[in-house]
Amino acid sequence: MKILVSGGAGFIGSHLTERLLEQGHHVIALDNLITGRRENIASFIEHPEYEFYEHDIIQPWQPSGDPVSAIFHLASPASPVGYTRNPIETHLVNSVGTHNMLKLALASEAKLLYTSTSEAYGDPLEHPQREDYWGNVNPVGPRSCYDESKRFGESLTIEYVRQFNLDARIVRLFNTYGPRNDPQDGRVVPNFIMQALENRPLTIYGNGMQTRSFSYISDIVEGIMRAMFHPATKGEVINLGNPDERTILDFANRVLEVCNSEAKIEFFDGRTDDPNKRCPDISKARRLLDWEPVVSLEEGLRHTIEYFRSASRK
Ligand code: NAD
Ligand code: UDP
Repeated sequence: MKILVSGGAGFIGSHLTERLLEQGHHVIALDNLITGRRENIASFIEHPEYEFYEHDIIQPWQPSGDPVSAIFHLASPASPVGYTRNPIETHLVNSVGTHNMLKLALASEAKLLYTSTSEAYGDPLEHPQREDYWGNVNPVGPRSCYDESKRFGESLTIEYVRQFNLDARIVRLFNTYGPRNDPQDGRVVPNFIMQALENRPLTIYGNGMQTRSFSYISDIVEGIMRAMFHPATKGEVINLGNPDERTILDFANRVLEVCNSEAKIEFFDGRTDDPNKRCPDISKARRLLDWEPVVSLEEGLRHTIEYFRSASRK
């Protein structure tokens, strides 16, 4: 199958591409490298079934030759540091960029999957978060360029399903980590691992009692693939995440343990609008996709730490 991946040079997009190539698909990746990295695609850039285009999807794009049959639309800055540095670009990629991907899917008679986020729930008042919870989002806060534009992208995607019968679905991804996490993107996983490995204090924002639920990359790629290709996912919104909820303080201690590090922990001011709790209800993914995460936090951390150790040796 000829498949388009927007955001293909990013963390999740590059792992998804590898899986698609392994399954014998032809992959076209579009990425403007605003937060992606060429090193993420270095291991398969020469693959005969792979094409990479440095392209901003805010501008329309047409494939040459046969139309694509499926579009995985992942392009968007994803880390708080990434999107607060590029707020207008984040708004535009999730609005205009999503519109371009939807129009291309319609013209090509292709399936489409849009990667939304747990941030669509904002600082949730319901816990754990089910797909039918509408969320608690500050429309003008520092995170709004991301969460509001993702909500707009969801709304536009569902409108294409309603009005044009497009075969599209939405997945809401929860915090995902693994090899190829960008050490510079400020997210908690790369920050804590790099700090622990370099014996610098781990920086906790706030009191560390806020929670997150961390999913390992291979579990998320499997969930994304099933959401695209399983029957009965058209028009659905599906949480993909790991219900193993941890406080950030507990997570810091796990990282220290797996890194075998004696680094200290330091507490700093909390971030504005930082969600206090986050944990997915994944009953819908279990039912529709027969999917649930299988990689434990300790195992996922071991693989990720190994990646960071070898990346820092290069
Ligand atoms: P990433 O930043 O590593 O990858 C996103 C990619 O999109 C980057 O390579 C970036 O250069 C590209 N991109 C951004 N704007 C673009 C544009 N206008 N045109 C073309 N390419 C563009 O982030 P990621 O963690 O791989 O996230 C992938 C998707 O998953 C994003 O849509 C993100 O919102 C979503 N998501 C990720 C997480 C997570 O924990 N990683 C959680 C929830 C949702
Ligand atoms: N965090 C932290 N120290 C860091 C980076 C992040 O305490 O060095 C906290 C952050 O305040 C948030 C959680 O870890 O409560 C997850 O942050 P991240 O930026 O990874 O993603 P988010 O879930 O906020 O999008």
